Amino acid sequence: MFESFNIPADKICRDFLHYMEAGSMADLIDSLPSDRDLSDDEWRFLIEGDYDKQRLFDKADKVRRQYYGTDVYIRGLIEISSFCKNDCLYCGIRRSNKNASRYRLSEEEIFSCCEQGYELGFRTFVLQGGEDPFHTTAWVEKVVSTIKERYPDCAVTLSLGERDRRDYEIWHQAGADRYLLRHETASCVHYEKLHPHEQTFAHRMECLHNLKQAGYQTGCGFMVGSPFQETGDLIADMRFLREFRPHMVGIGPFIPHHDTPFAACPGGSLARTLTMVALVRLTLPTALIPATTALATIHPQGRELGLKAGANVVMPNLSPAAVRKQYSLYDNKICTGEEAAESVDYLSRQVMAAGYQVVVDRGDPAKTGCATSDGQLNKK
Ligand code: SF4
Repeated sequence: MFESFNIPADKICRDFLHYMEAGSMADLIDSLPSDRDLSDDEWRFLIEGDYDKQRLFDKADKVRRQYYGTDVYIRGLIEISSFCKNDCLYCGIRRSNKNASRYRLSEEEIFSCCEQGYELGFRTFVLQGGEDPFHTTAWVEKVVSTIKERYPDCAVTLSLGERDRRDYEIWHQAGADRYLLRHETASCVHYEKLHPHEQTFAHRMECLHNLKQAGYQTGCGFMVGSPFQETGDLIADMRFLREFRPHMVGIGPFIPHHDTPFAACPGGSLARTLTMVALVRLTLPTALIPATTALATIHPQGRELGLKAGANVVMPNLSPAAVRKQYSLYDNKICTGEEAAESVDYLSRQVMAAGYQVVVDRGDPAKTGCATSDGQLNKK
C-alpha cells in the first residue's frame, strides 16, 4: 500500500514510532496477551523501541500472577555428560573444543543427585547433557524408569538433544514428563550461521514436533544477542512460539565462550533479555519460563529481575560439585553459591525478597488461573 503512495520505508517506520510514542504504546501493552498476530512494526517497537520497559515488565508480572500467583518452581538440574557429538559454534563443550574437559555421570551418581535433591525439596529433576552416544535408548530408559519408581511424585525432564522419534516415545513411556530442546532461533538463515552444515534447522523443528506428538510437556527457547541476530530473527521467534505453543520457554543472553569461534563476539544484554522474557510471558501466559542461569551470570540480580519480568522457574545445579565447572557451555557460568542446589534456603530468601515464594511442587503448567491477592479468581 505504501509503495503506491511513494512513501519511503524509513519514513513509515519513523512515523510509526512517532505514533507509538505519542501514546498508543500503552494501548499496545495493555492489549497483550492478544489473540491477533502483531504486525512487524509492533513487534519491532516492543522489542527495540525506546519506551518505559517497566510498564511492560509490570504487565508481564501481572499476567504471571493471574496463573501462578507468587509461586516459583525449582528444578534440580543434573548435568549428566559434557561429551557431545555436535559442534554448535557458540558452545563451550562442542566436539571441536579440544580444551574442554569431559565427564559422564554414572547411573549411581545420577540417583545420588536425585536422593539429595529430593531431601532438599526438589520435585523435578532435569537430566541435561550434550548429545553423547553413550546414552543409548535403553540406558536412558532405565535411568528414567528407576527415578520414577523411586520418586513417583516427581517429574523427570530430559534435555538430551535431537534423537529419533522412537527414542522420545520410549523415554516418555518410561516416565519422562518433559523435554527441553531449545530451537535457538526460528530463522533458518540465522540457524545456519550458528551451526555446522550437518545440523539442520529442519531437523531441529522436526524433533520439537515429534516431542509434542509423543506427549511431552515440551520446552524450546532461544538466545538473545547471539552472533548475527537481528530484530527480525526475534520477531520470528515470537511468531514461532505463538504458533508452536510450547509448555516451557528458556530465554537467556548469549554469553561467548573463549574456546569457540564466537569468542570475540559481544554478549547479549540484560535489558533485551528481560524484554524478551516479558514478551514471551504476554504471548504465552501459562508458559513455564526459567529465570536462567545465564541471566544470573551476566548480572548479580539477573535472576530476581527475570522473575519480575515474568519468569516463574529457577533451576539450581544439583550436579556433583566436582564436575560442575566442566559443564562449561559459556564463560563464567555460575554453579556455586546461591546457584547450587545445596543453597536452596538462601535462594528461597532471595526469591522471597523479590516478592515471590519457592514451593515444593512438580510445577506443571497452569490449566486455570489462581486467586489473586484481592481474592479474585482469574481464568484464561
Ligand atoms: S549446544 Fe548442545 S548440542 Fe550443541 S555442542 Fe553444545 S551440548 Fe552439543
